[in-house]
Amino acid sequence: MDQPLLAADPKAEIRVEVAKLCARFPGEYWRKLDAERRYPSEFVAALTEAGYLSVLIPESYGGSGLGLSAAAAILETIQEQGCNGAACHAQMYIMGAILRHGSEAQKQAYLPGIASGALRLQAFGVTEPTSGTDTTALRTFARREGDEFVVNGQKIWTSRAEHSDLMLLLARTTPRDQVAKKTEGLSVFIVDMRKALGHGLAIRPIRTMMNHNSCEVFFDNMRIPADSLVGQLDRGFRVILDGMNAERLLIAAECVGDAKWFIAKSVAYANERQVFGRAIGKNQGVQFPIARAYAQMRAAELMVREGCMKFEAGLPCGPEANMAKLLAAEASWAAAEAAVQTHGGFGFAEEYDVERKFRETRLYQVAPISTNLILSYLAEHVLGLSRSY
Ligand SMILES: Cc1cc2nc3c(=O)[nH]c(=O)nc-3n(C[C@H](O)[C@H](O)[C@H](O)COP(=O)(O)OP(=O)(O)OC[C@H]3O[C@@H](n4cnc5c(N)ncnc54)[C@H](O)[C@@H]3O)c2cc1C
Repeated sequence: MDQPLLAADPKAEIRVEVAKLCARFPGEYWRKLDAERRYPSEFVAALTEAGYLSVLIPESYGGSGLGLSAAAAILETIQEQGCNGAACHAQMYIMGAILRHGSEAQKQAYLPGIASGALRLQAFGVTEPTSGTDTTALRTFARREGDEFVVNGQKIWTSRAEHSDLMLLLARTTPRDQVAKKTEGLSVFIVDMRKALGHGLAIRPIRTMMNHNSCEVFFDNMRIPADSLVGQLDRGFRVILDGMNAERLLIAAECVGDAKWFIAKSVAYANERQVFGRAIGKNQGVQFPIARAYAQMRAAELMVREGCMKFEAGLPCGPEANMAKLLAAEASWAAAEAAVQTHGGFGFAEEYDVERKFRETRLYQVAPISTNLILSYLAEHVLGLSRSY
C-alpha cells in the first residue's frame, strides 16, 4: 500500500522497532487469549521492557520524555500489526494526571516505578452504572476522616483493574447539591489497589464482546491515606479534563492502525481470492469500500498528526483531538466492515483474525467517548450552537 508520508515521518524508526516486537506476538497468540479471555501479560511485559509504555514520562522520572506523537506512533503500529494496545494504552496517558497535577512526593513515589514496570497504572475509575456519560452525576463518595479518606460507591467498565497495581479514581468529595457548579466537588485519588483489595475494594470482571478485561469495582468503606489526593480537593474534574485530549489522540492513533490492518488484509485477500475465474479485487464492488475506508483513514491520520503537533506545542487542541477520535473510529469501523465483506464467509472464521479485530475496533465508537458526545462538543464549542443536553 502507498505510504506517502512515511518517508518524511520522524517516527519511522520507532514504527519499525515496534513492528519487530509485535512480530513476536502473531495472530495465534491473540486468538488464544481471546478464546480464554486472558490478559496479554507477555505482550505488555515486552512493551514495558522495551520502554514503549513510558515514552511520555520525563527522563528525570525514568521515562524517555518523548512527545505525544511518539506515543501515537507506538499505539498505531501495535494495531497496524494486528496486536491490541487496549491492554495497556491507558498506562501511557493516565500517568499524565500525576505528572501535571501530582505533588513532587507523588511523582517520586509513582513515576519511576511506572516507567520501570515495577508499578502498573492501568486502571481509570470514572464511569459508574447510573451516571454513564454524565460524569458529574457520579455517586462514589470519598469522605475525609482524620488523615484518611473513606470511599464508598461503585465503578463500572474499569478496564484492566485486575491487572493494575494503581487506580486513578474520580469521586465526589462535596455533594452535588452543595456546589455552585456540578463540575465542582469532585476529586481525583491515586489508589494503591494492592493494599485496598479485600479491605473495602472488590473487583468483578465483566464478560464482553471482545477480550478487554473490563470490570466492575466496588468500594465499601475503603480507607485510603489523605495524601492519595491528586491535585486540589474538589477540583478533580479539571484534572480529568486535562488528560482527555491526549487520551483521544492516542485512541484515534490506535483506530488509524486498526484501519491500516483491515485495509492491508482486504487488499491482499482481494488480490488473491479467485472466484468466477478472476481475482475478486477486479470487481469495483469489492474495491470501492476498501478505497473509501483508505481515504477515511488518511483523513483521520492527518487530523491525529495535527492534534499531536498542537498538543506538543502546548496549543489548545480540543477540536482536533475530538475530530481525530471521531474520524479515526469511523475509518476503522468502515475498514472493518469492508474487510468482513471482502473476506466473505472467511471473514467470520477465527483463523483470519478479521472477526476478532472487527469486534475489538467496534468499541471505539462508544468508549472512551461516544461519537454522539464528540458531535455535541463540536456543535457547541466549535460551531457555537446551543448545548443540547
Ligand atoms: C469495554 C469498555 C471499556 C471501558 N473502559 C473504561 C475505563 O477504563 N474507565 C472508565 O471510567 N470507563 C470506561 N468505559 C466506559 C465508557 O467510557 C462508557 O461506556 C461511555 O462513556 C458511555 O457511557 P455509558 O456506557 O454509560 O452510556 P450512556 O451514557 O448510557 O449512553 C448510551 C448512549 O446514549 C448516548 N447519549 C447519552 N447522552 C447523550 C446526549 N446528551 N446526546 C446524544 N447522545 C447521548 C451515548 O452516546 C450512547 O450511545 C468503558 C466502556 C466499555 C464498553
